[in-house]
Amino acid sequence: MKKVILITGASSGIGKKTALTLIEQGHTVYAAARRVEKMQDIVESGGHALKMDVTQVDQITAGVDTMIKEQGKIDVLINNAGYGLYGAVEDIPLEDARRQFEVNLFGLAAVTKAVLPHMRMARSGKIINTSSVGGKIYTPLGAWYHATKHAVEGWSDSLRLELKDKGIDVVVIEPGIIATEFGEVLYEPMLNYSGEGPYADMARKVANATKDVYEKKGSSSPPSVIADAISKAISSTRPKTRYRVGKLAKPLVWLRTFLGDRIFDKAVMTQV
Ligand code: NDP
Repeated sequence: MKKVILITGASSGIGKKTALTLIEQGHTVYAAARRVEKMQDIVESGGHALKMDVTQVDQITAGVDTMIKEQGKIDVLINNAGYGLYGAVEDIPLEDARRQFEVNLFGLAAVTKAVLPHMRMARSGKIINTSSVGGKIYTPLGAWYHATKHAVEGWSDSLRLELKDKGIDVVVIEPGIIATEFGEVLYEPMLNYSGEGPYADMARKVANATKDVYEKKGSSSPPSVIADAISKAISSTRPKTRYRVGKLAKPLVWLRTFLGDRIFDKAVMTQV
């Protein structure tokens, strides 16, 4: 069935590919991001572009109002906007760490809060939150990023129970390594924070490992694997609570769960 869908973080990577896939499948898609100019292809494919910084409540309200005015409902919300803040805890100013939470957790929550009354009145809806395999595991210098994604996991599970009798479902997406702008966005700031000083050696190693993983052919999955998982969650009458997909997603979580933290620590540190 054709759905009215709002997806955030649609100017690049996973969000863009998902928006284009859902448009192709006949859904009405409103794509949101700060860089509206980067969503021209989505508009040309028949989608709608909304200028939306998920940390700006007025922009969220305006976007949701537009959708309700034009479509009368929102069937599916895909909270996908996010970025990785990497660097040593000692080096990253708390203000920057708060910004990471503002986007990855509170931004996602703000969009959800704006959409919920409409879904609740319709007694129907799906909220799909892009977490990460990083919401289950951890890497050195990624403390703030992992904190936000671990938070998204717990927040989403609680919300799913809260909305159970309202006809609204909540689904978590846990991507593995996906070839997008994600690696580029974290790379330079990490070296700015920690490229010199007591964590310099580790920062250089993590930077090289990140580069390898995001640039080497075969070490990442294309964003289409996530687009397909999201599409499956939308079309399913009883979606899974979590979709763990993409390069290394399943083995990494398996490693931590079944071998324990100490062995996982060793395995991660051999990679940096
Ligand atoms: P990209 O950097 O390619 O895309 C990130 C998107 O988020 C962009 O469209 C960007 O749009 C948007 N965004 C960032 N900050 C804001 C903001 N303040 N307000 C609104 N939009 C914002 O990365 P991905 O496609 O990889 O990332 C999508 C999601 O997937 C993220 O939540 C990420 O954490 C998650 N993820 C990615 C993995 C990967 O390996 N790529 C692995 C696991 C999870 P704009 O700058 O135009 O606003």
